[in-house]
Amino acid sequence: MPSIPILKSREAQIHTKGEKPFDMTCGKHSVAGSVSQRACVFCGSRVVLYPIADALHLIHGPIGCAAYTWDIRGALSSGPQLHRLSFSTDLRERDVIFGGEKKLEAALDELIDQYKPKAAFVYSTCIVGIIGDDVAAVCSKMQAKKGIPVLPVHSEGFKGTKKDGYKAACDALFKLVGKGSTEDVSPISINILGEFNIGGEAWLIKEYYERMGVQVVSVMTGDGRVDEIGKSHGAALNVVQCSGALTFLAEMMKEEYDTPYIRVSYIGIDDMAKSLYDVAARFPDNPEIMERTRKIVREEVEAILPELNGIRKDLEGKKAAIYVGGAFKAFSLIKALNYLGMKVVLVGSQTGNKEDYKTLQEMCDDGTIILDDANPLELSKYIIEKDADLFIGGVKERPIAFKMGIGFCDHNHERKIPLAGFRGMLAFAREVHTSVTSPVWQFCPARLGNKEE
Ligand code: SF4
Repeated sequence: MPSIPILKSREAQIHTKGEKPFDMTCGKHSVAGSVSQRACVFCGSRVVLYPIADALHLIHGPIGCAAYTWDIRGALSSGPQLHRLSFSTDLRERDVIFGGEKKLEAALDELIDQYKPKAAFVYSTCIVGIIGDDVAAVCSKMQAKKGIPVLPVHSEGFKGTKKDGYKAACDALFKLVGKGSTEDVSPISINILGEFNIGGEAWLIKEYYERMGVQVVSVMTGDGRVDEIGKSHGAALNVVQCSGALTFLAEMMKEEYDTPYIRVSYIGIDDMAKSLYDVAARFPDNPEIMERTRKIVREEVEAILPELNGIRKDLEGKKAAIYVGGAFKAFSLIKALNYLGMKVVLVGSQTGNKEDYKTLQEMCDDGTIILDDANPLELSKYIIEKDADLFIGGVKERPIAFKMGIGFCDHNHERKIPLAGFRGMLAFAREVHTSVTSPVWQFCPARLGNKEE
């Protein structure tokens, strides 16, 4: 099969480890015509704020933007389900010509009265940036009228990368922080940042910390509540998982409220255990917290190890490709896959920075392809060339994997089971095992083609 060429302008964002000195170009706008896998600014802000379940989420733009992010991730709520409704002002040609502010105001008026949310987020999309609606002015007018925070999210899709959407979301979130009383906040307390409760993961993680004796004041934003975010400034520590998304907020809280933060990951056994130990170590005056943490880790690992070791026997030597949003998640996935005996042959991210990519290349074996802001053609090319058996990604990567005839694990958008935490690691291993070892791939034309050669 002839090699698939890549665009000249993309070459600096694709590296093969060991081939030449590593210097990744990243954090820049996508190359026109390359049909990037990366989501837009609006989508970045939407995924961060989406799990705040008692807030109204109104997308000011054409209906397609709302459809794109509607229920995009299985972020579960233990109470209100308002977040799962995707409201839109449904801007049309007339609104583009005459402006959409009146429509936005009318939508907010009606929706706030009907659903009585604790706060409202109004997302600006591309077209709003082009026609210049004053979303902030409409929001402050409605805030005064309705008596709840009505927060503009400046997330016009074209104005940067997905990471700019994270920043826009954090700016909006920060306006909620500090609004509540911290009376019931213990000195031994944390906020969990960057955990979105996909498939109920925040509940697992929260339970570990609470078993350790640490109060979880707020989870931002999984199973999120406006009031909890309001008192989050009282917590002793911010524990940041999805670092690309929520570090902005952690930095702002450090500056304003002197709240320190640490970076963690809840994916895989090692990183999950480290996340608990790192938090326990922040409360040295209470040694019983570390004692309890050791017990929790021991019990949880013992419960999953026998089955994991059985799965590992079948997966030993299989090859995996990873393309995820944040690079920090990729670090943990590499470790988790290595634990299962698998080799990572391709790894890429939508929002990694230079430091992230340096860490990635240190973790990977020689010959591994490392990509920033990839497109379907590039991903397909390397899946074929590296003969991968598994692709881990999100909703946009699933069809690529299936067309290539290899197993797929959705680590992002459409999954319904928790893959974080110790029990999540077992669920991850089961899913990878089922997909990779499925007999169906032997009938796939792409794979047959490989074999015939
Ligand atoms: S904000 Fe712009 S780029 Fe994002 S979905 Fe809407 S139209 Fe597309």
